[in-house]
Amino acid sequence: TGLYKCACLKWEEVSIMDEKNIPIRTYQVCNVLEPNQNNWLRTDWIPRSGAQRVYVEVKFTLRDCNSLPGVTGTCKETFNLYYHESNEDRESYIKESSFIKVDTVAADESFTQVDVGDRIMKLNTEVRDVKVTTRKGFYLAFQDVGACIALVSVRVFYKTCPLTVRNLATFPDTITGADTSSLVEVRGSCVNQSEEREEPKMYCGADGEWLVPIGGCLCNPGYEERGGACKACRAGFYKAKSTDPGCAKCPPHSHSLRDGATICDCHAGFFRADTDPPSMACTQPPSAPQQLISVVNETSVVLEWTPPHRLGGRSDTSYSLECLICQTGSHSHTGGRFCAPCGSDVLFSPGQTGLTTTRVVVSELRAHTHYTFIVHARNGVSQASGAGAAQSVSVSVTTNQAAPSPVSSIQATDVTRHSLSLSWQQPDRPNGVILEYEVKFYEKDQRERSYRIMRTFSRSVDVTGLNPLTVYVFHVRARTAAGYGEFSTPFEFSTNSDPFPLIGEGVNSAFLLLSVSGVGILLLISAAVFIISRRRSKYSKTKQDSEEEKHLNPGVKIYVDPFTYEDPDQAIHEFAKEIDVSSIHIEKVIGMGEFGEVCSGRLRVQGKREIYVAIKSLKAGYSDKQRRDFLSEASIMGQFDHPNIIRLEGVVTRCKPLMIITEYMENGSLDAFLRKHDGQFTVIQLVGMLRGIASGMKYLSDMNYVHRDLAARNILVNSNLVCKVSDFGLSRVLEDDPEATGTYLSPGGKIPIRWTAPEAIAYRKFTTASDVWSYGIVMWEVVSYGERPYWDMNNQDVIKAIEEGYRLPAPMDCPVVLHQLMLDCWERDRAERPTFSQILNMLDKLIRNPGTLRTILESGVGSEVCVAVIPEMCVPEWSLCEWLQSIGLERYRDTLAAAGYTSLDSLLCHLIILQMLLFVLIGYLFCICRLYIKEGCNLL
Ligand code: AMP
Repeated sequence: TGLYKCACLKWEEVSIMDEKNIPIRTYQVCNVLEPNQNNWLRTDWIPRSGAQRVYVEVKFTLRDCNSLPGVTGTCKETFNLYYHESNEDRESYIKESSFIKVDTVAADESFTQVDVGDRIMKLNTEVRDVKVTTRKGFYLAFQDVGACIALVSVRVFYKTCPLTVRNLATFPDTITGADTSSLVEVRGSCVNQSEEREEPKMYCGADGEWLVPIGGCLCNPGYEERGGACKACRAGFYKAKSTDPGCAKCPPHSHSLRDGATICDCHAGFFRADTDPPSMACTQPPSAPQQLISVVNETSVVLEWTPPHRLGGRSDTSYSLECLICQTGSHSHTGGRFCAPCGSDVLFSPGQTGLTTTRVVVSELRAHTHYTFIVHARNGVSQASGAGAAQSVSVSVTTNQAAPSPVSSIQATDVTRHSLSLSWQQPDRPNGVILEYEVKFYEKDQRERSYRIMRTFSRSVDVTGLNPLTVYVFHVRARTAAGYGEFSTPFEFSTNSDPFPLIGEGVNSAFLLLSVSGVGILLLISAAVFIISRRRSKYSKTKQDSEEEKHLNPGVKIYVDPFTYEDPDQAIHEFAKEIDVSSIHIEKVIGMGEFGEVCSGRLRVQGKREIYVAIKSLKAGYSDKQRRDFLSEASIMGQFDHPNIIRLEGVVTRCKPLMIITEYMENGSLDAFLRKHDGQFTVIQLVGMLRGIASGMKYLSDMNYVHRDLAARNILVNSNLVCKVSDFGLSRVLEDDPEATGTYLSPGGKIPIRWTAPEAIAYRKFTTASDVWSYGIVMWEVVSYGERPYWDMNNQDVIKAIEEGYRLPAPMDCPVVLHQLMLDCWERDRAERPTFSQILNMLDKLIRNPGTLRTILESGVGSEVCVAVIPEMCVPEWSLCEWLQSIGLERYRDTLAAAGYTSLDSLLCHLIILQMLLFVLIGYLFCICRLYIKEGCNLL
């Protein structure tokens, strides 16, 4: 780039020797003796070529003012870097005021020696970045204000995420965004011979690294992935669907002759059914069934056979039966007899077609008739192969003589007080000429103890001499030369009644009425018993459940859901102390909660010292549900007692507004606190905070409480940097967290997607393991000083990315061990995630060995990925000071030092001795008490 000397032409182009004694051209200025210097040097117009943020790397040398003899206060050791955006590539004169200052640049190194021949030149390299978005290009300018500088080189560049192929999608070389935190969303295009599985997307980060690959492509049928491209399947191989993992060898009895086959062709004589998958071997139709035998039983035939000798490589052989009724004549198929299909009245059991068993009973055949049965065997490729009669076997039989079938129905044609006229149809299968019918009847009440028989040639009979208003039962059977058939089923008819039928009817109606009402009452009683028993069993189940739950953790206090109390006030008075409103002094508003303002103030309870508290109040005009939800948080919080759980002081429910009083946390919520103090804590301090949160969460999980909304915004920090878990609203957890609002509505509520484990999003499986996932996100929030998880990605993309295995990268300066712990918390299988107890142990170990926290994995930059590992040798022992810092007690350092405690070892040693003395003292007091109780007044 050419550089222009401007204004007073004080910059000069000079040749000097570099460190390797190679001559280089520089621009120099050195007016250190004259005051009010303002010497400008600017570059040519630099096109920005689509870049939105450019980096300027300046190499220069700078003289140390002290080394210049006789200079007064006029000498400077910095210069200023400016830029000016312009569409004009040949602006000859640009006003100073048009330039915008990028930065004042100072040297890391300066040199003192004047003698160019002897000195070792110290070259400074400084990089600054500038957002250039408004014009086609820009000018850079260097303003000297009285320093002794030599500009050796100026390199202007921008960063790109390099062209890459990910999940078979090509992502072009992409210029990074304008801001250091902006992500550029890029859509990939599928590589040749591939199709989209799900829209391929990635984000180009400000440092030129690709982030969060989502979606991707799949190789087309006939192609497989090799080295990031889709290559055709070789001959002898095939791939049927794009979702198949790769090309597979042709299945048996098939081949592919050309590259890129999507299916293999069957060898001659082999076939594939329409429903056969391409991965299945080609097969053949079966051979004929074997050893068909028949057993005739009057008018039924039992047919049995054995499966074909060759099944053709398939297991879907089925059989069908053809039934022919044959008369002697000439027919090729049946050996000289004329055959026609049997009628539809023949019965086949279990069926006639689609048989998978090898035995059929054919019944309802005509007596003394010739039949031919043909059994066909087929399978899935019988049709494709065109195979027919070759796969069948037949048998001919003659049925025996048989008696007629039973009469199927009897009608009463005339009824009087003493007679019944009956008629019926000929049996369906008379099996010969009917010679006679036999009618058997008896009074219904008598059963068959005494019956009468009548015989007739016709299909009707008049039965006389019967009693009035009596029910009679009738059976009819037919007789042929083969003998009697079976009697029909019973048919009942009643003779006509005597006079006064109404009385009889009345009695019947009353009886009916009584029966109906009786049945009704019975039904009502049964329903009541059913409901009561259901309720009972539900109750006993609840009881059992809770008992079961208690068994889970014998001896440990278990959290009780306040919503199991019918009366919310009962729960609140069980778990929270009622505070007299006169002992509360409200001072100022500190935040806005879901139900109203949150204030800070003081609480003075009789007999205790005054303390600072936070006061949440329920705004006027609340509904019953809001009151219940508001107080539920106190009922939950009141059950906990742990230094890392926000402590409930009490509630005000007897007067309005209702209030919840908790301990006051001076530094407010953790996310806002970290953002405010970006980069200001040591890693040990951050780990100390995380330890506190893990300890609180371990306590909650031991109590069987699942938080469901663990996030940095729901952690509060006090003045000693102690972190405490808060926000125990139950309904609020899923419905009213601003993070959840308008995000993802699952059946039953809204979920803070970025913090929630995949199984909890997918099917609302909230467990301590899903809290562990959220804890991992909180770790990430803490180490990145309150950065938003997954930045500005939308929720759907977050869900997809997690589903595809993407996990948040390590934040800047994040120790490897901490990121590994986060990744463990984000295991897809929740059983694989650590427990809070394990997390706590791990963090304790890290605090005891801070050296393990010094290994830092830096994120990749552009196409050059660099991994910086701080050498182990510079790890000092953990000092007393660091330990005090980590537990927020560094203010006692001087006091301890004054008392002679200068190392952690000496302090811990004394602490242990103190603790032992305390035990001895307690034991001593205990003995005295026992003695006192035993001796009583005597001692007194
Ligand atoms: P919450 O309704 O619990 O989300 O509270 C709303 C806001 O009030 C929080 O984000 C905090 O900034 C503040 N706050 C709530 N409780 C306390 C507390 N105990 N000490 C200090 N600030 C609190």
